[in-house]
Amino acid sequence: MSTSAIELPPPVIGSLSPSRAADFKTCPLLYRLRAIDLLPEEPSPMAVRGTLVHGVLDRLFDLPASQRTFAAAEALVDPQWRALMESQPELGGMFGDPAELASWLESARPLLAAYFELEDPTRLEPAEREQLVEVLLPSGLRLRGFVDRLDVAPTGEVRVVDYKTSASPREAFEGKAMFQLKFYALVIWRTWGVVPRQLRLLYLGDRDMLTYAPDELELARFERTLEALWAAIARATEARDFRPSPSRLCDWCQHKRSCPAFGGTPPPYPVAVPSRSSPGLDSSPVADD
Ligand code: SF4
Repeated sequence: MSTSAIELPPPVIGSLSPSRAADFKTCPLLYRLRAIDLLPEEPSPMAVRGTLVHGVLDRLFDLPASQRTFAAAEALVDPQWRALMESQPELGGMFGDPAELASWLESARPLLAAYFELEDPTRLEPAEREQLVEVLLPSGLRLRGFVDRLDVAPTGEVRVVDYKTSASPREAFEGKAMFQLKFYALVIWRTWGVVPRQLRLLYLGDRDMLTYAPDELELARFERTLEALWAAIARATEARDFRPSPSRLCDWCQHKRSCPAFGGTPPPYPVAVPSRSSPGLDSSPVADD
């Protein structure tokens, strides 16, 4: 009889997505309100347009390579919007009248045109699209998120691609923009054993592209950074102490009424917090713009 021990996975100490990790880094209170209090947020036309464009680009790759034209992408806008409305009927309430909706749908067109300036989809065969990637690190921290696109070359080299419908960030914010892609690169490295050759951000808002080549040492450092971040989240959770950290991003925050920095009051701390291993999780495959 074999006496070899069965290797069990480490106990899960927590789960983190790039969005929730970025929330905590930006403002611990924002993290709490989103991940622990689970406060609802109103869909914004800009964010939903990002989701729409992501959906169109995803569907575009369902077509045979030679048919992936700008006209084909434009033709996908209406059906993709109807599909979104079917899954989230409340989105229809964003528009006062049909003219407003038509103008909003029209605003997706330049973003799609920008995509075609940055890449030629007839020459690409993505390995994965809108793909859930996840890994349980040896520390017990689970990382997961949805990658817009993964390209794998015949040589096995991997490229991680993310679409942003916003404009490219100024230099000082580039590191922040890369945070999300490094997160995915780390997950892929730890699951596939391959360091992605390139991280590519396509900024459709101003037709710009940001690329980066990570290396193993850097990803190992990034892993320790995420573990330290989770330790900080765990300490804040234990102490129920999530402080507001005002910044320019407050202009877009929907939770000012719950934020002491703006004269608001957070809701009572939930008695039953969602599973302690999952408050950092963001499982929705929504455009992360
Ligand atoms: S308004 Fe600003 S400080 Fe307050 S929760 Fe939102 S991001 Fe944080």
